[in-house]
Amino acid sequence: MNDDLQNDSIMSLADRYMFQTYGRFPVALIRGEGCRVWDEEGNEYLDFVGGIAVCALGHSSPVVSRALEEQSKRLVHVSNLYYTKPQVELAKLLVENSFADRVFFCNSGAEANEAAIKLARRYANEKFGPDRHMIISMDNSFHGRTMATLSATGQTKIQFGFDPLLQGFRFASFNDVKSLDEIMDDSVCAVILEPIQGEGGVVCPDSGYLKEVRNLCTEREVLLIFDEVQVGMGRTGRPFAHEHYGVTPDIMTLAKALGNGLPIGAMLSTEKLSPAFGPGSHATTFGGTPLVTAVSKAVVQSLLEDGWIENAKTMGQYFKGQLDELVRRYDFIKEVRGMGLILGMELKVPGAPVVEACLREGFLINCAQENVLRFLPPLIVQKGEVDLLVEALDRILGELKTDEEI
Ligand SMILES: *Cc1c(COP(=O)(O)O)cnc(C)c1O
Repeated sequence: MNDDLQNDSIMSLADRYMFQTYGRFPVALIRGEGCRVWDEEGNEYLDFVGGIAVCALGHSSPVVSRALEEQSKRLVHVSNLYYTKPQVELAKLLVENSFADRVFFCNSGAEANEAAIKLARRYANEKFGPDRHMIISMDNSFHGRTMATLSATGQTKIQFGFDPLLQGFRFASFNDVKSLDEIMDDSVCAVILEPIQGEGGVVCPDSGYLKEVRNLCTEREVLLIFDEVQVGMGRTGRPFAHEHYGVTPDIMTLAKALGNGLPIGAMLSTEKLSPAFGPGSHATTFGGTPLVTAVSKAVVQSLLEDGWIENAKTMGQYFKGQLDELVRRYDFIKEVRGMGLILGMELKVPGAPVVEACLREGFLINCAQENVLRFLPPLIVQKGEVDLLVEALDRILGELKTDEEI
């Protein structure tokens, strides 16, 4: 530990030297283990943010440390001019456990969506000609912060000040097939959507909706892209969220939990689209380095084989049940939504004071939109830890209620 960088000076140095792009909480975290993290003053926090759905195996996972240590001594990076073993092994593992036949590796969720957009356009261009290039996205969606992915994001606050946005995107309402049908003309090559909208406030698809979207896309020969960057890799209690709804996409994007914190994204598709991404069509220097893919392979194997996806399902059901109890008790809670360990509690009041009170009591949670408390704990979370959070939340909401009445 660096003794001359005290807690407050980490914060003041960040204020002085870094772009102020993040509205950060006033804590500097220095260590983590399992579902717990500690700040420099030794305060302990139970982590229900999980690095925003990233740290599925928790902090300081031995699975990660072991793979990182072994691979870092063997080969870290050589470029995609050469074959490397961990990359191929991870691709095989993902293909064998999903609908997909082919994988492209990159470094983030936004980049995975960039690859998906490029693949869809290139495929449609070769098959139907250049006029078929439009991509339909959903209102309230989130697909990333690069120019293409923020143009595909259905939230004006994320697009503000960055005009001109990229052309070739139009928007439908989530959970409304009619609004999709109305704008799906011959210029459309793909539809991109999150099976559960994460940043949008944990918005789940109505029953039958994704099937109707799939059918419409198949009928019009339009590609369907599922952005599973946040909900994939077991978070919902199945390896991929779309598996709950009995539909498969043509393209799927992954990132967040794929590397448990090491930067990796992936774009997967069926064999049919593979020829559109031939040599020279797309590339990235760091995508799928031996180091990152060796760690990711160990992470994915552990998620699939060590029962953590099942744990996400059972803990998610228990957690949701406990949160539903709170809905009954406090009339300023609108509802609880979600599946597995992506849960959202929509309030009729702003969520920020609750998030701040949780932090003071030693719990990390965050807020999606203004008023949806979002819970994304590591998939290894245990019942006792869920109970601690729910008890704290009950206390905090109780005080909020008293304050409101005064
Ligand atoms: C986080 C997220 C992204 C962007 O991922 P980055 O790694 O931040 O680029 C894209 N789509 C969804 C659904 C996300 O939750």
